Amino acid sequence: MAHIPDDVAERFAEVFGVSDCAPEVVSALQCSEVEALAGMLAALGATGAAENWRAEHLAEEDCTDDHQGGGA
Ligand SMILES: [Zn+2]
Repeated sequence: MAHIPDDVAERFAEVFGVSDCAPEVVSALQCSEVEALAGMLAALGATGAAENWRAEHLAEEDCTDDHQGGGA
């Protein structure tokens, strides 16, 4: 796995950690995609944002609840 530069990681958490964007984007994401995004945010320390993405997604009607636990 490639090393993620600190500035890139910080930027990712900064941009995707904004809760306002989640409701509009999350409906277009699959379960696995949300888990991947939330997992990355959690790994970067943005656990609150990660939980927000998961919560928004779990409220979607097309969520199959087929989640792997998410880790982190
Ligand atoms: Zn789901």
